[in-house]
Amino acid sequence: MELPTSKSGSICASCKKPKFELRARRSRLMKETPLLLCGDCYDKKYEPRYLVVMAGRRYGIDYIGAVLRKHLYIGADITAEEILK
Ligand SMILES: [Zn+2]
Repeated sequence: MELPTSKSGSICASCKKPKFELRARRSRLMKETPLLLCGDCYDKKYEPRYLVVMAGRRYGIDYIGAVLRKHLYIGADITAEEILK
């Protein structure tokens, strides 16, 4: 599987801001998912919020524990209720 190439004027998968330049990397939680991230989110090792929830549902809360503790995503805290519902 190829990583997507950076396109100008795309939207960051994590913070949803339109950015001139995005960097490609695979999600650390959902290994098969390629992400396009802005420099900020890339450097901070952020994951898209929906993807953290999805990984929690698929693999369990323990699996995403480090991401939750360090809040490595944009947006409100992800609660156990959100993952279990
Ligand atoms: Zn971003």
